[in-house]
Amino acid sequence: PRPKVVVIGGGFGGGTAARALHRLGLDVTLVEPSRTYCACPGSNAALVGLRPLAGQVFDYVGFARVGIGVVHEWAVGIDASARRVRLSGGTDLAYDRLIVSPGVEMRLDAIPGYDCAASAAMPHAWKAGPQTADLARRLAAMEDGGLVVITVPDNLYRCPPGPYERACLIADYLKARKPRSKILILDAKDVFSKQPLFEEAWAARYPQHLEYVPKSRGGTLVEVDAAGLTLRAGGGAFRAAVASVIPPQRAPEICRAAGLTDATGWCPVDPLTFESRRVPGVHVIGDAAIAGAMPKSAFSANAQAKVCAQAVADLLQDRAPDIPKLINVCYSLVAPERAVSIAGVYGIEWAALVAIPESAGISPVGASEDLRIREAALGDAWFRTITAEVFG
Ligand code: FAD
Repeated sequence: PRPKVVVIGGGFGGGTAARALHRLGLDVTLVEPSRTYCACPGSNAALVGLRPLAGQVFDYVGFARVGIGVVHEWAVGIDASARRVRLSGGTDLAYDRLIVSPGVEMRLDAIPGYDCAASAAMPHAWKAGPQTADLARRLAAMEDGGLVVITVPDNLYRCPPGPYERACLIADYLKARKPRSKILILDAKDVFSKQPLFEEAWAARYPQHLEYVPKSRGGTLVEVDAAGLTLRAGGGAFRAAVASVIPPQRAPEICRAAGLTDATGWCPVDPLTFESRRVPGVHVIGDAAIAGAMPKSAFSANAQAKVCAQAVADLLQDRAPDIPKLINVCYSLVAPERAVSIAGVYGIEWAALVAIPESAGISPVGASEDLRIREAALGDAWFRTITAEVFG
């Protein structure tokens, strides 16, 4: 019989892994509770009406069509010694190797006052879907003159440049539609991804409509009052008309339950194979994994999935996996149809995934509007390519 691989999570990591394993001739079952997947890349543009949210939604029909088994249930437990995954419906699935890519969980225990109700009142929209639609509605309904507050957690979290892209697009929307309003960014860090490019865009495009408060000036969120839409940071308290609190994150419950996480809340892996350093036979990819210097992005999850799938096939056939090189490229909009990018190449040194600085790059500061327009088109093309690769 063909070796069986089970994949938990049908997002960018798990979806890519399932496809790659199938191409390698393995028997694959994908476990994903939802019948549709709402993609995060592009969802900041959807927030302010630059893209339809419906264009972010994909389904799993293409997987079944090529012969990948899809089970729409939650994985609720992993018995690594028996090599079985327990499903929410009460049955279980046997595997020879397991790949886990469940994304992130928003922490409700990290900021005083930030509980389930606060997460609804101050939508993070950090898992694209109903919260994205809700935050979009709140922005549209806000009266001119209102203060929009977004808060950004310290590292590590999903999509390092994402909050700053969101701030740009909201500032652009306010400038055009609610010119007496402003967006305030409260950040728990002083240094962030593509910083010179975002700062350039803020100064040039949104001087009246965007204010940034870094950690060193009291930007760290200390407490929220959901009912009063009030946010207290080191630098003072702010009453928001619309708030989006992006809370600290960690690997989801299934990872903790299976013993895959360490004290950081994320899953340590061997970067050669993405096999867990804690539970043999189980591989972790995407946002949930600690992938050294690689950021938590869809591009990274997709790249890791291909390396991991090949390594799983090699291990199942007693071959030594190749030493991988991984790439990540992230586009961010700084205004409608204007984007900047960051690219990184990662290799293995001393059993860790490290960035190769000579191979990295970000878009030039001070570039022409024309380059920003071309990068926005590249970003769109990337999204179409990756979603076509994963969802067919
Ligand atoms: P996900 O894609 O979240 O997939 C996880 C899947 O696992 C989900 O479908 C979930 O339902 C499922 N799941 C969870 N628990 C279980 C369980 N117990 N059993 C079964 N299934 C389970 N990245 C980029 O590269 N470029 C961008 O431009 C970009 N923009 C972004 C903008 C925003 C606003 C945000 C929030 C993110 C952005 N990202 C971007 C990041 C990107 O979306 C994530 O890094 C990527 O989705 C991670 O893939 P993943 O497979 O780890 O998790």
